[in-house]
Amino acid sequence: MAAPLAAPAAPEAGWFGHPRGLSTLFFTEMWERFSYYGMRAFLFLYMVNVLQFDVKHAGSVYGWYTFSAWAAPIVGGIVADRLLGQYRSVLLGGSIIALGHFTLAFHPLPFFYAGLALVATGTGLLKPNVSTLVGSLYDAGDARRDAGFSIFYMGINLGAALGPLIAGWFAQKVDWHIGFACAGIGMLLGLTQYVLGKGRLQPALDRLGARPRSTASAVASSPVPAAGDAPGRFGFTAVEWKRIAAMLVFFAFAVVFWAGYEQAGSTLNLFGDRYTDRTVLGYNFPSSWFVAVQAIFVILLAPGFAWLWVRLGPREPSSPAKFTFGLLFIGLSFLFLIPAARMAQSAPGALVGPLWLVGCYFIQELGELSLSPVGLSVFTKLAPVKIVGMMMGVWFLADALGNWLAGRAAGFFTSVPLAQLFGMVGVICLAAAAILALLIKPVTRLMGGVH
Ligand code: GLN
Repeated sequence: MAAPLAAPAAPEAGWFGHPRGLSTLFFTEMWERFSYYGMRAFLFLYMVNVLQFDVKHAGSVYGWYTFSAWAAPIVGGIVADRLLGQYRSVLLGGSIIALGHFTLAFHPLPFFYAGLALVATGTGLLKPNVSTLVGSLYDAGDARRDAGFSIFYMGINLGAALGPLIAGWFAQKVDWHIGFACAGIGMLLGLTQYVLGKGRLQPALDRLGARPRSTASAVASSPVPAAGDAPGRFGFTAVEWKRIAAMLVFFAFAVVFWAGYEQAGSTLNLFGDRYTDRTVLGYNFPSSWFVAVQAIFVILLAPGFAWLWVRLGPREPSSPAKFTFGLLFIGLSFLFLIPAARMAQSAPGALVGPLWLVGCYFIQELGELSLSPVGLSVFTKLAPVKIVGMMMGVWFLADALGNWLAGRAAGFFTSVPLAQLFGMVGVICLAAAAILALLIKPVTRLMGGVH
């Protein structure tokens, strides 16, 4: 009997049955998202209310800043793969993010722009690589990997809920600059526990060190190989080209979805600030709190969605069908707000109840939970192995473009009646949903048997 040298080591159980490193990365990303979403909750309001930007200019700055923060991960992934490695990229990225928020805490305009540039740069270095580290905690084929990512997604949204509640409160109730500093302190807390928890990440770092340096990051669950098919143009097989075409379709429709969704930080943020009655039980809460609502709904609804898909079994909708639902819900959420917009603009000083925005975000979350996890999984599973890391960045790029459009949309806030603006956004999203509904069959065919 030979010694079972090749037998896999017993899975190291540590944190909810997952590798201990998951808790380190959970809190790193939680605090990073705390700082990102905490600051984004009042960024637009700070520009129009404190810096006195007109909405067009504020929308443009918001659009370019958020675009940069979501586009930079493409570069950040490559820097980690080729230059710094994942551990140091996250460390450096987090430090630059913290520095950025502390820079924003100073009032003069050059500090404002420098701070935004720093946060976007740091996000590019941190965001993709912290996900790669999560993937590397598990051996290929470890059944816990998907669950690990779901726990990680909870960390993202926990941070996205707490940031606006805490940093937003400091910004609007105490002092705007303390709000920015609070975001920076959150990032520092995340970094501190990241450095202290380095030992727990060692198994992941060993795995990353062992694999060939390439952008094919460990984030992928396992791209489905396109077997029995000869390589053609650019070394991709015909099957791979079809899958790339399917991904382009998903990409285009994801841009439309995020363009609606990311208005939480722009148009809807301003709607909450200017047209919503925020007094509940005698307490006047800051408008940035609305920005926490989306994340809170993710935390509440995600388990229900996971249950639903399992429950539906073979009747579970296909990926393009789920994307269609995503667009449908985001469109409906804007149409839902039309009566509120009419009431709010019917007389000067009129305010609508806070439940309008809460209801709108509830509908949006039905959309996010149909679309966002599907997008992530499609982009990791359909991508040819050698470009899977880059395709993760491309998935974030859809959010970047959506964010840019969300900033542009806010530029119309004062020049177009709000009911009309919301109606336009709603109709565009619904039209996209209708077009995608017609494409469900062809896209499913392009995906070539990957579900
Ligand atoms: N809202 C999530 C985050 O902040 C996911 C966004 C996305 O996948 N584009 O990470």
